[in-house]
Amino acid sequence: MTRSPLNSLKRFYSISSSAIASQKLSQGRLPSIPTPRNIKAHLDDYIVGQDKSKKVLSVAVYNHYLRNHDKRRKIDLQKARTLIWEETQRREREKQDKLGYESSESKAGFKNLQQQLSSHPDDDLVLSKSNVMMIGPSGSGKTLMATTLAKMLDVPIAITDCTQLTQAGYIGDSVEVCIERLLVNADFDVSKAERGIIVLDEIDKLAKPAASIGTKDVSGEGVQQALLKIIEGHNVEVTVKRPVKQGTDNQNNQTIAKKDETFIIDTSNILFMTMGAFVGLDKRIVKRMNGNKAYDESQEEKGSRDEIEKLRFSNIIEEVELENGKKETALNLVTPTDLVSFGLIPELIGRVPIITALQPLKKDDLYHILKEPKNALLEQYKYIFKQFGVQLCITEKALQKVAQFALREGTGARGLRGIMERLLLNVNYECPDSGISYVLVTEDTVSSLQEKDYSLNTNVDVKYYSRGEQDQFIEDTYKEDSKLGKELDSQFGRISTREKEGKI
Ligand code: ADP
Repeated sequence: MTRSPLNSLKRFYSISSSAIASQKLSQGRLPSIPTPRNIKAHLDDYIVGQDKSKKVLSVAVYNHYLRNHDKRRKIDLQKARTLIWEETQRREREKQDKLGYESSESKAGFKNLQQQLSSHPDDDLVLSKSNVMMIGPSGSGKTLMATTLAKMLDVPIAITDCTQLTQAGYIGDSVEVCIERLLVNADFDVSKAERGIIVLDEIDKLAKPAASIGTKDVSGEGVQQALLKIIEGHNVEVTVKRPVKQGTDNQNNQTIAKKDETFIIDTSNILFMTMGAFVGLDKRIVKRMNGNKAYDESQEEKGSRDEIEKLRFSNIIEEVELENGKKETALNLVTPTDLVSFGLIPELIGRVPIITALQPLKKDDLYHILKEPKNALLEQYKYIFKQFGVQLCITEKALQKVAQFALREGTGARGLRGIMERLLLNVNYECPDSGISYVLVTEDTVSSLQEKDYSLNTNVDVKYYSRGEQDQFIEDTYKEDSKLGKELDSQFGRISTREKEGKI
């Protein structure tokens, strides 16, 4: 069947609209990716401190999705050009055979299209992938950054602990497991998975021991080698068990069976975020910066196993004095060479060009983390208590004390959760259905944690109040935290009473 010129033109117009859209894109009209500034502002809502890393990540993520978009646009453009070429050939043939009729409008439209789709020097530019490496102590917010970004961009994310990975042929998970997880988290939607984020946590644990640098190491180095391909961009075949809904059983419930299904995933548009604490890396950087004699790695290896374990929980990162006299956290000065000397293979580092160091959290950061971010721990606990009709009040001094204890634990913000759990475990046990309406946690309550064993039978020194003891509850709050006291006054409409009594 020969296609009428009119139909051809319609067909071309539909191509033209996508091509024009593409051209507009190249002229600066970008797809709906939030700007780096917007991404950073969103991260600020959830993550305390880490300003530099948030900025680096915002730009990296923005460029990554821009690159993906550019790639798609160029593929579309190429398709449109092929169609134009075919149509030009067809028209040539018709002209030679003196067949068909074409209005001048249609001719002009076609010429216009040809011009729009003509090649451009930028067409050959291929943007390279911007995978990210986050270096920083445990509990400083590395994983939180990745998950917050994924949620914001509405892309699936899969977090894999590299210590669980093994080379093909060995017992354990092969590296493809991270792709499988991403696919499952994308609800088996391949194109969604191909736009997702894969977090490779504890990448530092794959470092080959200094003693084996230059020799073959089957564990860590083998896994690093295996990761190269998928990080670079490769078609990976994965077989996953996919749930299939079957008929209904006697209780009218749908039964779910699992069936093996094979998928091919192209990893070239997946954003890889590698992360790790890299314990001891700061010392290497300090040595390098101080221009020490070539340093003896085997010595480091021998003497440092215990030290590394200690450091893991100390959260103290060394500083370097710069030429201008200013002090800088050593990890901020990390170079790819430092990572190679740590034991990562250069090929892997080459595929993860964006490196950023997160700072160890200080007491003040921990205090802010308790209170301020969206989804802050304090708000979560208040909400839990509200569910069973209890108002939970924790004074400023008590929160400061919790931050102080958490800092001592040396596990970053991770420690906060544990302390809050221990602090409130028994209270949470006692309160529901007990007639208690208010709970006040003071500095003494937190201090009493130190002396107690944390069994359910042991009470921390917390204050409980029934509904009738509201006044006492507020008075006690005032004694340690007048700001919180005022908030309670206004909540219960007591301001006037206090004013009358001349207490303010
Ligand atoms: P890691 O750096 O080890 O990946 P995570 O991101 O998993 O640490 O942090 C553990 C928990 O501590 C998070 O769930 C989060 O609640 C909290 N947290 C850590 N760092 C921060 C931060 N900078 N701001 C807010 N919360 C944080």
